Amino acid sequence: MSGIGKLLRGCLEFNALKKPKLLEQFKAVKEHPAPKAVTFSCMDNRIIITKLLQCDVGDMYLVRNAGNLVPHCETLSYDAVSTEPGALELGCVMNEIPNVLVCGHSDCKAMNALYGMRDQTQIKEGTPLTLWLKKHGHSSVKRYNELLNSPDGIGPLEFKIPGKTLRAYIDPDKKLSEVDKLSQVNVLQQVENACSYDMLKDKLQSGQVNVTALWFNIQTADFFMFSKEKERFLEVNESTIDHLVSDAGGH
Ligand SMILES: [Zn+2]
Repeated sequence: MSGIGKLLRGCLEFNALKKPKLLEQFKAVKEHPAPKAVTFSCMDNRIIITKLLQCDVGDMYLVRNAGNLVPHCETLSYDAVSTEPGALELGCVMNEIPNVLVCGHSDCKAMNALYGMRDQTQIKEGTPLTLWLKKHGHSSVKRYNELLNSPDGIGPLEFKIPGKTLRAYIDPDKKLSEVDKLSQVNVLQQVENACSYDMLKDKLQSGQVNVTALWFNIQTADFFMFSKEKERFLEVNESTIDHLVSDAGGH
């Protein structure tokens, strides 16, 4: 069957099997909306984040792009607007969603491309993908270079968010490839970028909104979350979940 044929067959299967239940869920969400998070994830075809996190209808507002980037507020203008800050406003300001998740992953094609042009991020020309990665990924490259120059190459790096500084040790057990380390640094840089918007400042300072870094290891299918208290990524499992929920503000 052709590619589009498989997708359209999916419509028929949906009509036959899922539609009635989903219509009920749409109604329930409209009557009692309770969204849990605005999520920025990579567009990689393996990272179906709503499926990986077992989301229900109504749980998540989702933006996917190459490299799970969130442009910094300084890049925003009428001539250079992108959807990510709009999603933060729609989710956290207009709908009072308490969590923002930024989710990166291992074996990321966008991070691999950014790593390959890490010495050329100041050259302001390229294809649509390379321009996107250079413009909004150059700060991650800068932090990655800081990591390389740190003692033992594990940091700590410091990321500024309203009211506090996140200190981060990256791959202290020395298990990750260089591109995967860049990917983890990039997720934390996007947390800093998401926190750069004035519209979120008070909410971040008061704890009404929390921004959390997640990272998915595709090779092992394990999720990791950055713990602000432990200053590193911890695997999400039965022994860490209580700590991680509290570390993320508990919403
Ligand atoms: Zn990716």
